[in-house]
Amino acid sequence: MNSKILRAIWTVAILVFLASLFFIMTISYSYFTLFQKNLLRNETELAAQGVAISGKAFFDELNTSNYRITWIDHDGNVLYDNEVDSEKLGNHLEREEVKLAIKNGYGESDRYSNTLAHRQFYSAKKLPDGSILRLSIVQAAVWTLVLGFAQPIVIVIFIALFLSFVLASRLAKNITKPINEIDLENPESYYGKKDYKEIEPLLRHISAQKIQLKRDQEQIEQTALIRQEFTANVSHELKSPLHAISGYAELLENGLVRAEDIRPFARKIREESSRLTSLVEDIINLTKLDSGEDNRTLESCDLYRIAENAIDSLQSTASELDVNLELSGTKAPMVAYPELLHSIVYNLCDNAIKYNHKGGSVFVKVSQDKDRTTLSVKDTGIGIPKESQERVFERFYRVDKSRSKEVGGTGLGLSITKHAVLVHRGSFKVVSEVGKGSEFIIILPTQPT
Ligand code: ADP
Repeated sequence: MNSKILRAIWTVAILVFLASLFFIMTISYSYFTLFQKNLLRNETELAAQGVAISGKAFFDELNTSNYRITWIDHDGNVLYDNEVDSEKLGNHLEREEVKLAIKNGYGESDRYSNTLAHRQFYSAKKLPDGSILRLSIVQAAVWTLVLGFAQPIVIVIFIALFLSFVLASRLAKNITKPINEIDLENPESYYGKKDYKEIEPLLRHISAQKIQLKRDQEQIEQTALIRQEFTANVSHELKSPLHAISGYAELLENGLVRAEDIRPFARKIREESSRLTSLVEDIINLTKLDSGEDNRTLESCDLYRIAENAIDSLQSTASELDVNLELSGTKAPMVAYPELLHSIVYNLCDNAIKYNHKGGSVFVKVSQDKDRTTLSVKDTGIGIPKESQERVFERFYRVDKSRSKEVGGTGLGLSITKHAVLVHRGSFKVVSEVGKGSEFIIILPTQPT
């Protein structure tokens, strides 16, 4: 960055220098031309007086290499020329300056001289005898001027380059120093500070990215922690039915069970196995939901019909536990994932039956307005203490572990429900009172958003 800034400043310095040089040379050149013309005019006046007094003898003493001097008689014939043989020169009457001098006593002109192959300034003066004295000088070319200035120009170029190098490197350092000194851990501390005004948007960007990174990091850590906990819980949950099964089997194997106890033992083994099956099924469902690999597709479906089906399949369990199951509401057509909707209704109704009293009731209600479909599962069961109402959605969280086990719970039903609701971008709410019952309210968008 330093060298880039340095190069930029240097380029600007050189361009400014060249531009100034061009202007100075142009102005100097026009001034120099004017000066040359004035000088020529004065010299012509002086020489004219000399010739008027001394005649041709004036030229004999003359020692000039800068001027071309021509003396012309009143007919235009060249009487004398210090540079070109006067014999070879033609009539000069038609020359602009000569014409003017004859007419006005004095004349000037400038033109390209074919004879001398230069641009010349001419000035002519009429003498008292009618003859004309003309002086001319080569107009100094620009490069002559530049050459004359060469030495100071070279010195100035070196001084300018040296100064701009020193200034540019200082400037570059001054610009980059505050940037290099930024503590990227605390970009916020530079907001509003004098040297950092221009790069404040950059600082804000860095700060925002830092926060985002931190959040991402926290989320990754949190997810890893949840996974770790989940794995530990899964192994723990799997172990107990497996231990029970192998324990009962061992007793049977060693003939330690009386003949009349064999049946209850076999039933226990079957119950533990089915617990194991539900657990494995729930774990698989949850893992699929977690990874989004459940091949689900959005379909047109009706939540009321889905609720009817779920209730049908739970009817026998409800009857066994002497719980009354009621469905009310209206048809609720929606576009959603039918399998997930089924697991939502099934899990909520299953819980409402399991955590109910004998003779209790479960009221399932489906309703719909323009873009929201609502499911309410209300029971007259044991209720959930206030402090547990949020936690029941955690994996493997149970208010009463032994009761959950007794009714064949896995501790995963509500986690699956919550996940399925969130996949639909829906929301959920629990209203519950210990001893009176609970109501789970799920609100889902009728069309996916
Ligand atoms: P489980 O398989 O144990 O039922 P869930 O995730 O479905 O697991 O529920 C977690 C816990 O929340 C249950 O163990 C229970 O303590 C409590 N719970 C869930 N639903 C109800 C309900 N309708 N009434 C009372 N307690 C409930």
